[in-house]
Amino acid sequence: MGAPGFTGAGLDRADHLRLDPERIAATMANGDARLLRLETLDPVLDGEGRLAWSALAGVEGEYLFLGLEGDTPLFAPLLSLESLGQRAWSVFRLLALMSPQDAAIWGAARSLNEWHNRHRFCGICGIATEHYRAGWGRKCPGCGAEHFPRVDPVVIMLAEHDGRVLVARQPQYPPGRYSALAGFVEPGESIEEAVARELMEEAGVSVRDVRYVASQPWPFPGSLMIACLAHAESDALRLDPAELEDGFWVDRAGVLAALAGAPDAPFVAPPPFAIANTLLTRWSEQGS
Ligand SMILES: [Zn+2]
Repeated sequence: MGAPGFTGAGLDRADHLRLDPERIAATMANGDARLLRLETLDPVLDGEGRLAWSALAGVEGEYLFLGLEGDTPLFAPLLSLESLGQRAWSVFRLLALMSPQDAAIWGAARSLNEWHNRHRFCGICGIATEHYRAGWGRKCPGCGAEHFPRVDPVVIMLAEHDGRVLVARQPQYPPGRYSALAGFVEPGESIEEAVARELMEEAGVSVRDVRYVASQPWPFPGSLMIACLAHAESDALRLDPAELEDGFWVDRAGVLAALAGAPDAPFVAPPPFAIANTLLTRWSEQGS
C-alpha cells in the first residue's frame, strides 16, 4: 500500500538546533547548506524532475530551517506574499510529476510560508511579530507571546453501505472528478463526531463505527487530513446543494476502475497525492 501524499520527507527536523541562534548561523554558513527554489510558492523542478536547490551560504534574508537530509542542512526562503490561499491547479500538474519525498519537503515549505504570512501581527496585542525558532514560530516583541505554526484538522471520509462507498463532487472539481466528503473539525468535537456531523450535514447520511485509516499534511494552506471509514445506516442520500453538486454510491469494481483510470469508470478518481485516493485504494484492497 502506498503512503499518503506529502509524507515521507525523510528529514531530521533537528528541533534542538532551532532555538540555538549560533548553531543555526553555523548551519546556514555550512557550505553544503541548500536553499529550496520556489516560484512564488510553487515548486521549481530541475531537468530530472527533482526539486531545484541553490547554495545558501552568503545569501541574505530570512529562512526556514526544514531539517537535515543526512548531514546536509535544507532551508526554504521566507517569502513575502501578496496573495494568500491560492490553490492553482497548475501546481497539481507539477505534483503529479514529483517524487513523494519532494512533494513532502515542498509541502512543509509551502505551509510554513503561508503561516508566516498570515501571522505577521500578534493576535493578542496587534504588534508586528518576528521570525523565531529558525522559522518554526513567531514571537511578539510587544507582549512576548509565542505563536507556533498551526495545523487545521480536517476529516475526510468514505461512508460505506452494503459493499459500496459514497463519493461526491463539488462544482469546482475538474470534469468527472468525484471524491470523499471532507470538512474541518470544529472546537469541542472529536474526529469521530466530525465525521458523523459532516456526513449528516452534506449528504443526510447517518453513520456509526467510524474507523481511522491514515492521515496526511495538505499544504493548501496547512491542513492535516484525517481519513476515516464509517458504516452508513442506510443508502438514502440528501445532498446539500450548497456544498455538493452530485454524489452516488459506488461498488468495489467501480472504485477499482476509477483508480485504474479506465475510460468506462463511473468517475475520475482524485490524484494519487490526495489522501482521498489513498482512502479509496485501501477500501478497495481491504474491504469493509
Ligand atoms: Zn503581542
